[in-house]
Amino acid sequence: MSDQLPAFDRLLLLLLGVLLLKVYWARYAPRLRRRWQWVKVRLPQRWQPGSPKDCPHCCQGLSLEPRAVQREVAPYVRCKNTRGRKKAISTGGFACLNPHCTYFGITDEQRHALVGNGKRGVRQDIQHFRCQSCHKEFSCRRNTPLYYLKTAPDRIEMVLWLLAEGVDTSVMARYTGHADSTITRWLERMGAHSTVLHNHFFRGLVLTFVQLDELHAKVRTGVQWPWLALDPVTKIIPSLHLGGRRQEDAYALLHDLHLRLDKDCVPAFTSDGLRSYFYAITAHFGSWFRPERARTDHWHVADDLLYGQLVKRRRGYRLTFTITRMLWGARPVFYQLLTEHGCKRTIQTAFIERVNLTIRRGVAPLMRKTWALAQSPKHLLLHTQWWRCYYHFVRPHDSLQLPVPGRARGRILRTPAMAAGLTDQLWSVGTLLKKPLYPAFPG
Ligand SMILES: [Zn+2]
Ligand SMILES: [Zn+2]
Repeated sequence: MSDQLPAFDRLLLLLLGVLLLKVYWARYAPRLRRRWQWVKVRLPQRWQPGSPKDCPHCCQGLSLEPRAVQREVAPYVRCKNTRGRKKAISTGGFACLNPHCTYFGITDEQRHALVGNGKRGVRQDIQHFRCQSCHKEFSCRRNTPLYYLKTAPDRIEMVLWLLAEGVDTSVMARYTGHADSTITRWLERMGAHSTVLHNHFFRGLVLTFVQLDELHAKVRTGVQWPWLALDPVTKIIPSLHLGGRRQEDAYALLHDLHLRLDKDCVPAFTSDGLRSYFYAITAHFGSWFRPERARTDHWHVADDLLYGQLVKRRRGYRLTFTITRMLWGARPVFYQLLTEHGCKRTIQTAFIERVNLTIRRGVAPLMRKTWALAQSPKHLLLHTQWWRCYYHFVRPHDSLQLPVPGRARGRILRTPAMAAGLTDQLWSVGTLLKKPLYPAFPG
C-alpha cells in the first residue's frame, strides 16, 4: 500500500503538469511561435550551396535559341543587271523566307533581293514582296501576329494596347463586339511574338543588381506563381517563369537569367526569405574545379557573388518584424556597391515589390480578388509575356526620365529597353505588331 501511493501521486502530478502546459500553450502559443521565429532567423545559417548538377535545366543542357544574326552576303545589287526600273518600295526589316535562298533572313535593304510586288487583300491593302534571287513571294505579314487575320490592324492594336493596361478580355469582347475566343487568339499570338522578341533582344546583359520575387496568382485550374527577376537600375525584367512555388521553379528562373547574362557577369542579388533562391543562385554562378588528388570535380561558387535576403514575418496581414541577412559575400562589400550606384545602404526588395503592383495593374488575371481569371497557366503566361514586352518597349517609365539638355523644363521619356541600351526610341504597339521576326539561320 505504501508503495502504491507515491506512484499515484506521481501520476497525478504528471497529469497536472500536462494540463498546466496545455493551458499555457493555448494562451501563449502565438507569442511563443513569434519568439521562436525571431530566434530562428537570427541563428547562423549553414546551408549547403547548390551546384549545376541539382538544376534539372542544366542537366538537360537547356540553352536559348540561337539569335538570328545577319550573315555576310554580297549585296544583290552587285550581282544583278543594272538595267530595269529602280526600287520604289522600302523593304527594310523584311526578308526572304525561303531557307534555300542565299538571301534567306537578310533584312538589310541594301543587301537583300526583295522588291515590292503589289498589294493584295479584299478589305485592306497588304503589301507583298518578291525575292529577285529565288523568285518566291511573301506577304509583309508573315512572321507577325497579323498573318491571316481579317480584322483591321488598328483595331487589333487598340485591343492589345488596352489588354496590356489591365482591361479584361470579356470587357474588350463587349466593347468591340468580337468573340471572346477571337480576342484570346490575338492575345496568344501576341504573347508568342513577344517571347521571340524578348529572346532576340535580352541576352548578353550586364547587370549590377538583380531583385527576385514571386507572386501568388489564381487561374481556373488552380494556383500559379509567376517568378520575376528585375534589374532595379534599368527596370528591365530579363527573366519570367510561371509554375509552382517549389525548388525546381527557382532553378528555372535562375537558369533562364544566367543564360541571358554576359559570361562574366555576376550580379548582386536580393530576395525575400525563400530558401530556394539560395540554392538556385549558388548553383548558377561559379565554376567547376578539381582539387589535388581528387577524382571528381567540385563546384566553387563565384568569389564575387553577393546575396542578401530581407526576411519578413507576418501574422495574418500584419508585419510583425523584418531582418536582413547576407547569405553569400560580405555585407560591407554589398553596401559599398550600393553606395557606388547611388542606392540606399540596405538590403531591400522595394523595386521588385513596386513592379509587382504594376504587373498586377497591367495584367487583368493577376489583379487581386479579380473575377477575370485566366483559363489556363499557358494563357496567363502569354498575357504576362505580352505585358512585359509592352512594359519594356512601349510604356515610358517615370523614374527613367531624363532632363532635356540646355532646357529647364521638359523631360525625355524613356522605356526600360532604352535605359538598357537595347533600342534608342519609344516603340508603339503597332510597331511591335507589324515587326516580322525571323528564325535563326540553319548552321
Ligand atoms: Zn541551370
Ligand atoms: Zn530569296
